Amino acid sequence: MSLKISRRQALAATAATPLLAAAPGFAAGHGGNAPMKLAHTFKLGSMNVTTLLDGTTPRDEPQSIFGMNVSAEEFAQVSEENFIPTDMAQFFFTPTVVDTGADIVLFDTGLGQGGLQNALAEAGVAPDAITIVVITHMHPDHIGGLMTDGQPTFPNARYVTASAEYDFWKAQEAGNRVGDMVKANVTPLAENMTFVEDGASVASGVTAMAAFGHTPGHMTYMLESDGQQLLLIADMANHYVWSLAYPDWEVRFDMDKEAAAATRRRVLGMLAADKIPMIGYHMPFPAAGFVDTREDGFRYVPVSYQLMG
Ligand SMILES: [Zn+2]
Repeated sequence: MSLKISRRQALAATAATPLLAAAPGFAAGHGGNAPMKLAHTFKLGSMNVTTLLDGTTPRDEPQSIFGMNVSAEEFAQVSEENFIPTDMAQFFFTPTVVDTGADIVLFDTGLGQGGLQNALAEAGVAPDAITIVVITHMHPDHIGGLMTDGQPTFPNARYVTASAEYDFWKAQEAGNRVGDMVKANVTPLAENMTFVEDGASVASGVTAMAAFGHTPGHMTYMLESDGQQLLLIADMANHYVWSLAYPDWEVRFDMDKEAAAATRRRVLGMLAADKIPMIGYHMPFPAAGFVDTREDGFRYVPVSYQLMG
């Protein structure tokens, strides 16, 4: 999703944890007393899969983003039934790094405010160790960390993204906020970028799967190792209650709302039927869960100890 964090929210986030107020980014802004863990490693066959908390921030008026096509009463009822407030939503930004044994693959790069670097350091992964950077789609909270002070943040990486995604954004005229950011952060890397289609193999055990709707070239990525699978869903579903229980609820950041809803039904249905775990970029950290069916929609079941290896 495309999200701007206001200065007010940023200040509120850092003020809640004065000891960490000097740290760049928002990862520390969870309001608790102890520093939050920024990196969480799961085992998937012989792969190490680490989710990285680039940042987290509260947002007011969540129905201006989720459930735009339902009544305030329905939104309130669903929220209360699921033990979450109706007047705020906590957003998480969660790139993932995967050690396949042959490659170190980073999926998305965060807001570009330093949080990802802190999380990678906690995970023990140096930026120059990353061999492939996959961009699931080109909203600012996914491409913000590609460049640092005009230089590639991950100097030894090659890049992978969907051709449909890059083609769409690079055709935008100057003044389009996302298009301008793509020109600044993606275009300088394009000569080192592989543009893929649905079904492309990105690395051993990593396959691109088209999931269009959120953006014109939005991709999910299936990991597979020793017969185990996990789907990185990126922004296919962006809230663990509202987007799963009600896949047809319209989301402001979905550019093609009908296609995004159809994609949610198709992909969530597959995850539920095949009992495949997922990592969602905007799910509550550590952002990994399973999908079950519930009434006409789905239910998110956070991972507990299933992926400890
Ligand atoms: Zn996003």
